[in-house]
Amino acid sequence: MRPRTFGLAVSLFLACACTRTTSSDTAPTAADAKKFIDDVNATTLKLATEASQAGWVAETYITGDTSALNARANQRFIDTLARYAKDAVRFDHTDVPPDLRRSLDLLKVALVMATPSDPREGEELTSIAANLDAAYGKGKWCEDPKKPESCLDINQITEIMRVSRDEKKLRQVWEGWHTISPSMRKDYARFVDLSNKGAKELGFPDTGAMWRSKYDMPAEEFTKELDRLWDQVRPLYLKLHAYVRMKLREKYGDVVPANGPIPAHLLGNIWAQDWTNVYPLVAPKNSDPGYDLTAILKNRKLTPVDMVKTGERFYTSLGFSPLPQTFWERSMLVKPRDRDVVCHASAWDVDNVEDLRIKMCIEPTDEDFRTIHHELGHNFYQRSYKDLPMLFRDSANDGFHEAIGDTIALSVTPEYLVKIGMIEKAPDSSRDIGLLMQRALEKIAFLPFGLLIDQWRWKVFSGEVKPDDYNKSWWDLRLKYQGVAPVAARSEEFFDPGAKYHVPGNVPYTRYFLADILQFQFHRALSQTAGCTSMLHRCSIYQSADAGKKLNDMLSMGLSQPWPEALTKIAGTKQMDATAILDYFKPLDTWLDEQIKGKPVGW
Ligand SMILES: [Zn+2]
Repeated sequence: MRPRTFGLAVSLFLACACTRTTSSDTAPTAADAKKFIDDVNATTLKLATEASQAGWVAETYITGDTSALNARANQRFIDTLARYAKDAVRFDHTDVPPDLRRSLDLLKVALVMATPSDPREGEELTSIAANLDAAYGKGKWCEDPKKPESCLDINQITEIMRVSRDEKKLRQVWEGWHTISPSMRKDYARFVDLSNKGAKELGFPDTGAMWRSKYDMPAEEFTKELDRLWDQVRPLYLKLHAYVRMKLREKYGDVVPANGPIPAHLLGNIWAQDWTNVYPLVAPKNSDPGYDLTAILKNRKLTPVDMVKTGERFYTSLGFSPLPQTFWERSMLVKPRDRDVVCHASAWDVDNVEDLRIKMCIEPTDEDFRTIHHELGHNFYQRSYKDLPMLFRDSANDGFHEAIGDTIALSVTPEYLVKIGMIEKAPDSSRDIGLLMQRALEKIAFLPFGLLIDQWRWKVFSGEVKPDDYNKSWWDLRLKYQGVAPVAARSEEFFDPGAKYHVPGNVPYTRYFLADILQFQFHRALSQTAGCTSMLHRCSIYQSADAGKKLNDMLSMGLSQPWPEALTKIAGTKQMDATAILDYFKPLDTWLDEQIKGKPVGW
């Protein structure tokens, strides 16, 4: 995860009730546009830095005061960006050099919500957005409303979904969590109307079209691109789905149909977006890798700093400069004993130049060891584009930032662990199915979910789906893409999309789908550059200066060029390609074929 810079603006909402201003009556010139963009770059750099400083303190020292200071700094940043976005429209017909045009275009789509210029409507939208976000945040399900101690928040719900194997309990909790959202339905419909109005004022047909216009191609074409990518991986997803369904049926009986959709409450996650938690139910035989990295880290008494130093060495082995001294002075690597903090791992670039930090409550575990490699990926990306104008200091598209961290985490292979002296010998490849299965339950299972959230929202924003069909269209898509269904019919009295944070929180979701695809494409291309000849899931780019150079060539472009240009630097092609996923999971694919021979596939 990565907060701040323009990612900050993207993940929050626009809160400006200001009217559109026009500074002069005469047509603006290219020089006016240049002056305007220079001003934007200077001002947003200053405000983003202030917001990051406030955010860092708020998350590493949680008090009412630090929260208030953080909210204020964010608001100032967002208001300013919103004003600039509206101002940018006046250069729509000015003849300007490509760099300036790109800056102006990026500015218009920097925020995910545009408020209408009518002050009353602007304020209404801002308050609805805040209410929806808060309604989710406060969401609790109480088995007995008279007993507050029976109330469960999303963390407790998540934990039950993770560990429970009691079908009735899981169903009850699943249905319980989905009671938090029906009250959001009316607000959401109004939110759609008003945010569309704001998007139209910026020149977009609707909010969904505004989101899609961030991807350097016509909205229509981008939608087709996503379908094409999904079609590439769908056959593998179908096999995984068939196998998991078969195993869940062995465990839960007839509640899991032999050839229909999997019940939405049985996949170990409230949204069925990550199936890792059902691994014990589907684990292949003889798949123990023969080493336990968590135990090794503990036995060797590696400190959090040692673990991060190891991660840093991965990057310096690729040719990147070491992290600045301030990283070690200012990062939060250990959970403090004396105060509340947000432990969720994140990477920061507080001054948008070199004040890199990570914030994590590191434990000596395999998972945290990987996460460190992931977070540092954000930091090295951030530093690579530090010399660009502020508007370009971000990843090539919003899928790239997460993809880089994950790409590096894919290189944490047994061979890598041997090279850095963590284990003595890599297990032979017959043990790989377990590891690949775990990874598939996370990454392959996620893909259809990552795709459908915005498929639903784009239809809602465009008016293709009307409020009367919100829930029906939601479940149509979940069935179509995921092959998942609720056990009892979900009528329009519910509003099930609202039970997923990113809908009431208004956070675009396609980036996670893209990140999932891109990381394998990057991993394959960089592994080839590194001269790896083993199977793709065993390749690590550790110590490859050539791979490091390619990586840095792309990272240092930031957001200054359309993303296909950035992709070319690593992958030698302008097209995203999901076949790297198929290459990576080839041994699992073959194994799944064996397992589901003669069994139903699809739903
Ligand atoms: Zn991340």
